[in-house]
Amino acid sequence: KQVLDFMTSAHQTFSSDKGGANASYIPYLASVPSDLFGIAISFPDGQVLEVGDTKYEFAIESISKVFTLAKVLEEIGKDKFLATIGSDATGEPFNSVIALELHKEHPSNPFDNAGAIATVSLLNAKSADDRWNQIISTYSLFAGRDLTVNEEVYKSESDTNAHNRGISWLLKNSGKMFTDPDQACDVYTRQCSVAITCRDLAIMGGTIANHGVNPVTKKQVISRENVQPILAEMAMNGLYDNTGTWLYNTGLPGKSGVGGGILAIVPGVCALAVFAPPLDVFGNSVKGQKVGAFLSEKLGWSLLNK
Ligand code: GLU
Repeated sequence: KQVLDFMTSAHQTFSSDKGGANASYIPYLASVPSDLFGIAISFPDGQVLEVGDTKYEFAIESISKVFTLAKVLEEIGKDKFLATIGSDATGEPFNSVIALELHKEHPSNPFDNAGAIATVSLLNAKSADDRWNQIISTYSLFAGRDLTVNEEVYKSESDTNAHNRGISWLLKNSGKMFTDPDQACDVYTRQCSVAITCRDLAIMGGTIANHGVNPVTKKQVISRENVQPILAEMAMNGLYDNTGTWLYNTGLPGKSGVGGGILAIVPGVCALAVFAPPLDVFGNSVKGQKVGAFLSEKLGWSLLNK
């Protein structure tokens, strides 16, 4: 009840905020109504609280990187993952290739595009279809329902992803690409185009908050030991160049996507999902960040002040 009151007041307070703009470099995203605004929280007992536009399907974009990371960690283990991809910030924009030049040993982390595409390539798969099926079925387990690609988003991104294709080939050139570069980039583009609602996102995050067990289906989706590496990556790199400011204001690991979603995890307590398309210059939902800071303060969620 108290949580729902604070969610409602966050929604009222920030719905008139005019800050930020929809992502424009992917044509589809530019066309999504800017005033959509949803807030959802998922608890370990399976309860999901929702306020606003929580049923609207939007593109998961970079938040997908969290769940592909989870799948790869399950497969290769956290030590090998750290040695192959890493967990440090690049200090560069999300799609920078400069980090590939600077970090000779491995990409810097799984959330910058270079590290994310390399992470996709790490999955042990027999074919492009097999790679994709492993990824989408993992996402569906996290969400507790069958998720699918928004084909319009996928087409829009595929038509405009020359930069990411370039990143794939640069990875290949420096020995950091573990499958065909075009296949890895295509699967990456598909995973960014998966359609989710704010409610889905809360449950997906709730699975991480609930030590790897989906709070609604009660299925163990990932092992508990992989929760910490996922949250470490989120705390360090979840909001690109604004991750420090987000952590400063919320005390929580988070992850944003240019579709307007933001996910925050309060381990053992709940997961917060916000959907609001206008982004700051770093690619993070403006309202999402404000809601995160507001609720974390009101509800005492910060992990840095226990
Ligand atoms: N599909 C987007 C890209 O690779 C995702 C970026 C994001 O959400 O930050 O450009």
